[in-house]
Amino acid sequence: IPVDPFDLVIFGGTGDLARRKILPALYRRFVAGQFGADTRLTGAARGEMETGAYRALVRDALMEFAPEAAADTGTRDAFLDMLAYVALDARGEDGWEALAARMRSGPIRAFYFSVAPGLFGDLAHRLHRHGLTDETARIVVEKPFGHDLDSARDLNRTLARHFDEGRIYRIDHYLGKETVQNLMAIRFGNVLFEPLWNSQYVDHIQITVAESVGVGGRAGYYDHAGAMRDMVQNHLMQLLCLIAMEPPARFAPDAVRDEKLKVIRALDPVARDHAVRGQYEAGHDQPGYRAQVGNPDSRTESFVALKAHVSNWRWAGTPFYLRTGKRLRARTSEIAVVFKDAPHSIFGAEAGRHRNILTIRLQPNEGIELGVTIKEPGPGGMRLIDVPLDMTFAEALGPEEADFPDAYERLIMDVIRGNQTLFMRGDEVEAAWAWTDPIIAGWETEGAAPLAYATGSSGPEDALMLMHRDGRRWREIR
Ligand code: NAD
Repeated sequence: IPVDPFDLVIFGGTGDLARRKILPALYRRFVAGQFGADTRLTGAARGEMETGAYRALVRDALMEFAPEAAADTGTRDAFLDMLAYVALDARGEDGWEALAARMRSGPIRAFYFSVAPGLFGDLAHRLHRHGLTDETARIVVEKPFGHDLDSARDLNRTLARHFDEGRIYRIDHYLGKETVQNLMAIRFGNVLFEPLWNSQYVDHIQITVAESVGVGGRAGYYDHAGAMRDMVQNHLMQLLCLIAMEPPARFAPDAVRDEKLKVIRALDPVARDHAVRGQYEAGHDQPGYRAQVGNPDSRTESFVALKAHVSNWRWAGTPFYLRTGKRLRARTSEIAVVFKDAPHSIFGAEAGRHRNILTIRLQPNEGIELGVTIKEPGPGGMRLIDVPLDMTFAEALGPEEADFPDAYERLIMDVIRGNQTLFMRGDEVEAAWAWTDPIIAGWETEGAAPLAYATGSSGPEDALMLMHRDGRRWREIR
């Protein structure tokens, strides 16, 4: 469905995120016909550059990150024609007049803050001072949103001086993933799952976001943040919220976000021995974490495993195990809802233990799989095996339908449509920090270094023990 005409300014329009994600996402939505050539796109960043040179930079970015653009020069040129570049400094006055001159009145105005978080406040302030905001104006704010509760509160306050909450779009690109939205469709569009979706039937839930790469080029930022701030406080907690929340009355922004907030507020503080952190060692011809960030004493964690409890009527007694880390065995993201054993086995002990597991896979091969127990085919008697009732989208829908848009494509179009459902509200972000801050503070007071783990492993031994102690097992990372 085409969106209304808009003027989009990307602050940080020459940066890594703009080149890798934002501009390719816009290109693909343009190709899909979601907006027309009456759109204006502006890259704004530090450093003088002619619009021609900027278009060349964006063309190169498309060739690399949206390679299909190579074949269609006509469409690509039409896209590039919409683009202009304005040099400006978020902390100075240069360039803002030129930006103001480029904005039209009438179309929706969107300002994407794809710059270091320290500049978010400056941008909001100068947008306002230079009269660039009108009643349609909205801002998109990248992660990280704060470093802890205090800084997130400050940032919320600063932005609130110039923008109502309804105009602030805090991005968590996990929420833009097709399968994550499908999780809500599965839960609230079927009668099948909801009656079982509670501690009476669910033994536990596992959320894994595993990366095989190390910190790479983001060492400076990462060593200051760590896995807890970089991944758990936002992405993993958002996934937890979508699994644990009560059905909202409507699929509407505040109805959904109210329910997510209630989940975060119902989280118990995490016991000291329910929070494991690790740091990867050298291996597979790659340097270890400390060498990679150039800080031989770093105590920053590249791995976290937690056991969390949502203390409410629905979930009392069902633990949520979360883990995320870098340099793990494989790049895998999945949520597994592990159901309880059948109350009584009529097939005897030799039939073994069988459980239903609903797996929501975010990558690779996005899809949802329900493990069911059946009889092993053949004459061998009543032997039971577990097989997947597989809903891999590519198979079910055909390759074309399952060729999902990138999360950024959906989220940017939601910004233009004015739909905040898949964006984090300020109070949600604060509540999430209020939960993670004490865990981080506990580690800091304790002063112990994170536990070492081997590159290519599943994380430190203690993380495995976190589940073994409870008679449970992590699913394999593969
Ligand atoms: P980057 O360093 O590659 O780019 C920064 C951009 O900001 C450049 O265009 C630069 O010219 C501009 N800039 C710097 N100082 C400025 C100033 N004073 N005034 C105006 N413009 C200025 O950064 P990035 O990796 O693109 O990240 C941008 C934002 O997105 C950050 O908040 C980052 O945390 C977030 N983010 C990035 C990634 C990623 O994969 N790169 C992922 C998630 C979130």
